[in-house]
Formats: sequence, C-alpha cells, structure tokens
Amino acid sequence: MSTNPQNLPRLLESCRDVEHVSYMLRKIQELNLSRRVRLMEVCGGHTAAIYRYALHDILPDEIELISGPGCPVCVTPMEYVDHAMALAALPHVAVATFGDLVRVPGGGGSLADARANGADVRVVYSCADAVEMAAQNPSQLVVFLGIGFETTACTIAAALENAIERDIRNFNVLSALKTMPQALNVLLSAPDVGVDGLILPGHVTTITGLGCFEFIARDLGIPCVVSGFEPLDLMRSIYALSKQLVEERSDVENEYGRVARAEGNLAAQGAIERMFVPVKTGWRGLGKIENSGLDLRPEFAEWNAARIPVHVPRSHEPRGCRCGEILRGQLHPEECPLMGKRCTPETPVGACMVSSEGACAAAYQYGSYYADYE
Ligand code: SF4
Repeated sequence: MSTNPQNLPRLLESCRDVEHVSYMLRKIQELNLSRRVRLMEVCGGHTAAIYRYALHDILPDEIELISGPGCPVCVTPMEYVDHAMALAALPHVAVATFGDLVRVPGGGGSLADARANGADVRVVYSCADAVEMAAQNPSQLVVFLGIGFETTACTIAAALENAIERDIRNFNVLSALKTMPQALNVLLSAPDVGVDGLILPGHVTTITGLGCFEFIARDLGIPCVVSGFEPLDLMRSIYALSKQLVEERSDVENEYGRVARAEGNLAAQGAIERMFVPVKTGWRGLGKIENSGLDLRPEFAEWNAARIPVHVPRSHEPRGCRCGEILRGQLHPEECPLMGKRCTPETPVGACMVSSEGACAAAYQYGSYYADYE
C-alpha cells in the first residue's frame, strides 16, 4: 500500500508517538534476549535518527547498536577528495558538488580551502543543476563529484543521460558511486566484526529491492530487516531482528513496506545499468572492494572526468582519526580520543564529523559524551 501524501503529517506523528514507541520497547523487553547482541544500522540516516531520538539510551542493555558504512561522504576515501582538488586546480574547470563534501579534509586541505584559494568550487543541490551549469557556461568544463549509493546513482544516471542526449560535452562526472551488497559481504565476512543483525538501508533498498541482500541472511546467517527512519520504524526493526535472533532464524524482512518494495524501483535500476558499469572501488575503512563501485560505461568516456590527466598526490588518513573503525562498527564515535576536542563539526578531522549522516557528527550533536568522556 503506497503512502498518500495527504496522510503524511498524521503518519509522521504516529511514527514519533511516545506510546507507540513505548509499546515496541515493551515488546522488545518481553523477548528476553539471553545474550548481548550487536545490531548494525547500515545507513547514516539511521545513525542520525538513533542519536537524535536517543534510542541507544532506552533499549535493553543486551542490545548494542553500532554504525556501519552507510554515510556516503564518510566512506568516500581521501584519494577521491585529492583527485577532486587536483581537478579544481585546473584553470578551465569548475567543480560542482554536494555541500557536505566541500568540507571533507583531503591530504592537502579541503575543497572549501581550494575555493578560498581561488578555485571554482560550487555547491549544487543535484547533478541536474550541474548539467544546467555546464549548459550555461560552455567555455568551462563542469565536473560533478558523483558520490553516494544506489539512491543517488540513479539520479546522476538520469542527469548524465540528459547531458548526453543534449550533447553537452563540457559536463563530466568524477564517479565514486558505490553499491552496498559487495561492501557488506566483505565487512560481514571479516572475522573481527561480530554483527548479529542488520538494519538494512531503507533508501537504498527502495531502489535495489530486497533480493540483493538475501545472501546475508542465507549464506552468512545474519538476520536482516529493512527499516524506515522514524523512531517507530527503527523500534519495529529492532524488535523484528531481536525476534529472529530469539527464534534462531535469519531472514530478510521488510519493515519499510510503505516505501520499499521487494523488487525495488525498476526504472531507477534501468537508468543505473544504462549509464554505469560495476568496478572495483575504494571505501574509507574497508579498502578496495571488487564490483562495489559504479563508473561510467566506456561508451560515455568523454563525459568521464577520470580521463583528465592530473597528478593526484598520495595522502594518509589524518593522525588519530578513527573513522575507519567507526565505519566497520568496531568503535563508537564517543570512544575516539579526538571527539569534541580536536575534532568538532567546526574543525572536523575526519569525514565522519562532516556529514549530517556521519556517526561522529550525530554523536557530537545529540550524544551525551560530555558527561561520560570529559
Ligand atoms: S571524532 Fe573526528 S577524529 Fe575521531 S573518528 Fe570521528 S571524525 Fe575521526
């Protein structure tokens, strides 16, 4: 059943209703989990919601929520920022990007620093905006920084297709787009991660459908539940995961049925397939993973900014930053010694403090680390 937009205010109200959330909490408590379990929320949107509504604090002690590699800005490696900086340094290039990425530190500073030093770096709200920018500035090469997961990939595919149809050749994409299943396979197969259940990303699943995650339940034996982003959605998903654990089964269940369908969005999947091919790509914290990225199809090479020869310096993760461990679910943001001291949203040391979906930014904004760690 689809959601009628006119019902949205009522729906939102009920998804945040204290009584409904308390009811789900009681149901979780009644399951009487006999051991401590670690449930990973894959999506940065879930992480932000969990901190915002302090769900960590109300759950039974047996349930530990850990963040995963689902914040697009956070998992984009430093080399990509450095590559974008090298392109921005070219005299005829304007770099167009989503706002969060501008502040992510690369080896030689951020794109915001490059802009302050005279580079043409512009924040856009969509890839389609960057296409229009190129159409209106034919003497400039507009390079759009394509980061994100399947949810963003389909919108970039549509904008790119539009640019190609209009023969706008001064529009390029530098792709660091990523796909979730292969990265989760690598992460969850590692011996030191210890994840008992997965809260699957609602937005990504809306595009991909559920099938691509079935191997996690079937082959790795880890229960999975697709979740929405409101407190009630998350509590229902935590309950469903806990119930699977109590019943000793592992299935892929959907608690976001008002948006995500089993088959996903076929039109969006088609757009991605028409414009991109799977490639090996680098993830912050996870390294390079086969077939976990999307690059432009070879026939669209002229629109691919990776073809432009630039020197990209080798850089290293900032000293003391623990983003990699946080993205693998091995560390909570509050456990990073730099949190709230050298690293704040105003002075981010790592990417997880930049994005609103980053675990460190969420912990800083909504968390209670002052009391525990100061
Ligand atoms: S608090 Fe800052 S330095 Fe620490 S892991 Fe997070 S982003 Fe990195």
